[in-house]
Amino acid sequence: MAYLIALDDGHGENTPGKRTPYISSLGRAIHENEFNKPMINFLNEELKRCGFDTLLVAPGDTDHSLTSRTNRANKAGADAYISGHFNAFDGSFEGSNPSGISLFVYPGHLNRDAGELAGCIAKYLRQGTHQNYRGIKEANFHVLRETHMIAVLTENGFMDHPDEAFLMLDRDFQREVAIEHAKGICDYFNVRYVADDPAPTYSMDADERLGEVVIGDKPMNYRERPSLDAPVIRELPAGHGKNGEPYTVHLYEVKGHWLRLGQGWISNAEGAYATVKMYDKNPNGSVYRVIINGKQVGAYADDDNIADQVRKAVESGKDNVKIERV
Ligand SMILES: [Zn+2]
Repeated sequence: MAYLIALDDGHGENTPGKRTPYISSLGRAIHENEFNKPMINFLNEELKRCGFDTLLVAPGDTDHSLTSRTNRANKAGADAYISGHFNAFDGSFEGSNPSGISLFVYPGHLNRDAGELAGCIAKYLRQGTHQNYRGIKEANFHVLRETHMIAVLTENGFMDHPDEAFLMLDRDFQREVAIEHAKGICDYFNVRYVADDPAPTYSMDADERLGEVVIGDKPMNYRERPSLDAPVIRELPAGHGKNGEPYTVHLYEVKGHWLRLGQGWISNAEGAYATVKMYDKNPNGSVYRVIINGKQVGAYADDDNIADQVRKAVESGKDNVKIERV
């Protein structure tokens, strides 16, 4: 029989106090549940794919008391209880701003099953998130005390840390944290982790890079295909972040005003949104053929020639330029 994992998204959407300080660039605060709920939903998908049964102890958008959450899990006889949160220190971006991930188990359980489960989850969070790791701690929290099964509460960042606050809304971060929780839970229960089908990917060998692209002053949509109708994978940040560093990405393919950066495409009509720098070195001496609208126009070892051909093609309105290693 499959293991049953109870999943708790921490708080209701409007639980008082559970939010970041006001963020002027957003014009609002971020509620803790804006991280907890999608992370727990991703974790639910992950665990089901790996063959676990799951129980959302606070389904839907209504507020659920802590007691109703733990009662549900107890009644269902769950094998483990996972509660996902985002931490807070002093409710302010001013002054000292601790950051990072902590995991909690009930006092006395650090060296018991719950501590072991927390250790499994922590192992993957530490490998994945690049955040400060604050360790596994003991705390007399309701959901750790009132649950009849092993229970772990995770705090996946600080709402009042100016950078970590923004991670709360980042779908990639939410998904990554969920995947790392799922891998840890799989390890603990000795269940094989099954990854999601990866999105179709292009090969992204370093020697297939044509150059670099610096994103301009506006964030850009990164799309699945070179078309304005194609779904947006994510938004690429504007070129000059808070440290004034240009946001640079590798260029793999050019199609008209579309640039392929890794798996997705950005539109750079008339070069208005991004700066393209073709590599002018060919360190491994490879020869590349340039194909314009399906026709090979030449093969070159010198990247200056390739860049010239691409520039000419784009300037004369050719909409399909391809460069292949010979
Ligand atoms: Zn919380």
